[in-house]
This record gives sequence, C-alpha cells and structure tokens, in this order.
Amino acid sequence: MFKALRILVLLGILVTVAGTTLVGRWQAQSWKRPQVVTLYPISADGDAETEAYLGRLDESAFARLAPYFQDEARRYGLPLSQPVRVVLGKRVRIAPPPAPTSANPLSAIAWSLQMRWWAWRQTPASSPVPDVKLFLMYHPPDYAGALPHSIGLEKGRLGLVHLFAARGQQAQNEVVIAHEALHTFGATDKYDRSTLAPVFPDGYAAPRQEPRYPQSAAELMAGRIPVREGEARIPANLGETVVGPATAAEIGWVK
Ligand SMILES: [Zn+2]
Repeated sequence: MFKALRILVLLGILVTVAGTTLVGRWQAQSWKRPQVVTLYPISADGDAETEAYLGRLDESAFARLAPYFQDEARRYGLPLSQPVRVVLGKRVRIAPPPAPTSANPLSAIAWSLQMRWWAWRQTPASSPVPDVKLFLMYHPPDYAGALPHSIGLEKGRLGLVHLFAARGQQAQNEVVIAHEALHTFGATDKYDRSTLAPVFPDGYAAPRQEPRYPQSAAELMAGRIPVREGEARIPANLGETVVGPATAAEIGWVK
C-alpha cells in the first residue's frame, strides 16, 4: 500500500515536470507576445576592474539585441513585431554552481538541475517577469586563456554566459548573448565541437553562395564566419551574423 502511494507521488511529480517543460516549450515557440529576456550581471572573479565596469554598465551595452531579433524575425515573416524584449536586471552576488568539466551526460544533467535550483533561489525580483534568464559572468579583459564555455538551456529557460568586462568587447558580447538566448528557445549549435568549424550547410550564412568562400557573415548558432576552407573567424558584432533557416525552424519562427 505504502509502496503504491510512493509510486503514485513520484508519477505525479514526473507528470508535473514533463507538463511544465512542454508548456514552457510551447510558450517559448509560439511567439504570441514578446519574450522577456532578462540579463543578470555577475562579477565572475571579483576583481576591481570588473567591479568598476559593472558599476557603469547600463542597457546601452545590450541595445542592439532587440532590434537584431526584430530584423531577423521579420525576414522569416513572423507576425510579432517585437519578438524579444531585453531587460537589464539587478546584479547577482552569489556565484552559480560550477559547470561540469567532463563531458559525462549525467554530470551535465546534475549541473542543469543544480543551476535551475540556484536560479530559482538567487534571481532578484524584476519587472516585467522574465521568460528567459541569462546570467552574465563578467571576467577582466586581461583574463588568461579562453573564457569558460557559455551554456544556454532550453529546459529551465536560462543560460550562463561568459563575457569580457570591457566596453571594446560589448559588440562581441552581444553576439554571445544572442547565441545563448536562442539555445533557450530550442536552437542547437551548428558548429563541429572538436574543430569549432561551422557545419555545412546549416552553419553557413549563405550556403548556396558561389564560390563558397569567403562568407561575409556567420550563422548565429555556428558562431564563426568561414573565410576559407578550414578557417573561420569570430564575428565583430551582430551585424556580421544571421539567423539561418534551420535555426529559425528550431525556434518556431517558421512552421
Ligand atoms: Zn551554443
């Protein structure tokens, strides 16, 4: 009897989790109203330079994001005139759980659950209510080596985005934010994980262009502009990126 009850409770939890995930996905991809993407800055290393940068940070650092999504969505005939609204939220002082360093799928799942729990506890109140929460981890511009990998999760609709705390990096920061934001709407990466090279044809902005190289823009979810066979460069700003048809289909811009 007790065992049956326990199974019933577990089943109930499972159905609820599956249900909210499905509803979240439906809301994310129905594009009936602007989706509020709220950005929460965090000083990743606690250094003085990042602190000074974050003290001056305002919405102008993210001003090109909403118009970019507006222009890209219009190309696909989305009836909603403003698909994404970007809001700068309050700073978060408590660091998120460290992302897994191994590629083990179980540790990825465990981290995603910890991250959702952390976000639920640490997200400061803001208006309008966010649909997507992106936590922006700012590092000093002289950070040694490559920044940690940014992650955007469709489940939980949140992301952890690693950025440089420098005005000169803001245009490239917007590209990274836009990329992770589209993950939360269901877009997948379109680059090769081992070589980081854009995958042909979906990871190319103009796959039918002849000759194929150099491309003049990056597909946003591929993240790099293929300039010649085996070589690609990072776009300088959102103006050098496009949302390709495969990505547009994944996020529900084209049915
Ligand atoms: Zn990605």
